[in-house]
Amino acid sequence: MSTEKTDTINTTRKNSKSTSKSKRNVFGECANMFVKLYHKACSVLFPANIKCLICGDDLPQKQDIEICEKCRCKLHDIAESECCMRCGAPISGQGSFCLNCQNYNVEFDVARSVFVYDGEIKHLIAGLKYNNKPYLSRTLSHFMAQKYRELNWQADLIIPVPLSDARKKWRGYNQAQLLAEGVSEILNIPINTETLVKIKDTETQASLGLAERRTNLESCFKVLDKYAVRGKKILLIDDVMTTGSTANACTHELKRAHAGRVMVLSIAHGKQDIPTQSSLESIKNLIN
Ligand SMILES: [Zn+2]
Ligand SMILES: [Zn+2]
Repeated sequence: MSTEKTDTINTTRKNSKSTSKSKRNVFGECANMFVKLYHKACSVLFPANIKCLICGDDLPQKQDIEICEKCRCKLHDIAESECCMRCGAPISGQGSFCLNCQNYNVEFDVARSVFVYDGEIKHLIAGLKYNNKPYLSRTLSHFMAQKYRELNWQADLIIPVPLSDARKKWRGYNQAQLLAEGVSEILNIPINTETLVKIKDTETQASLGLAERRTNLESCFKVLDKYAVRGKKILLIDDVMTTGSTANACTHELKRAHAGRVMVLSIAHGKQDIPTQSSLESIKNLIN
């Protein structure tokens, strides 16, 4: 066969290949366009009906965090530069640690919260805790998982702050456990909801002084299986952090069972009430 003839055959083959390729491309584009049109038609005919958990506006699509952009902007994130480096309380002014962490024995290694406990986040947490809306924990868990990733923490085990049996029965669920289960699923970290238990209700503290409260809170929690936590880096999950005394009491028990590092993550942290020097002195006197 002459070289000229071979070239002609090759060119013809090339052309037919590129033609079939371009046919495939055209077919692929058409198929993509058809799928997009189909989804658009479906979303118009059968809307997903996903609404913002705060304002109730329709969301354009299903998303992990079911909050619209407008409402997201209203939530007050706690930046690393504006919180206590130990307990994560929002603080203003100079210094890396809040007065609580400077003056009292903090047992957990580090704690952080996603938001300041105010405005819309307060309403969402109230819905989860008091208005029987356990589904709110899905979105809140995603916020917590995002925060965990940002902080670059490395936990072996997730444990929720437990509720007493009586409180759990009253509410029907433990909101911290729902959050912890969500975080565990998103981050693929094992969870243990059986080991750390609350054996006394905190309400019984009402009549006690500050020093007695601290001791009493410590004896509220118990680790049932110390081998489950021994040497483990624990991510302790709670909904709201206020004084940090609950997280402290849980950590006390976990460390007594020889847990390793204890990191506390919560959705929101109450604004720190900065105690005056005189109130600090009176608190110190109470403890000593
Ligand atoms: Zn909204
Ligand atoms: Zn602090």
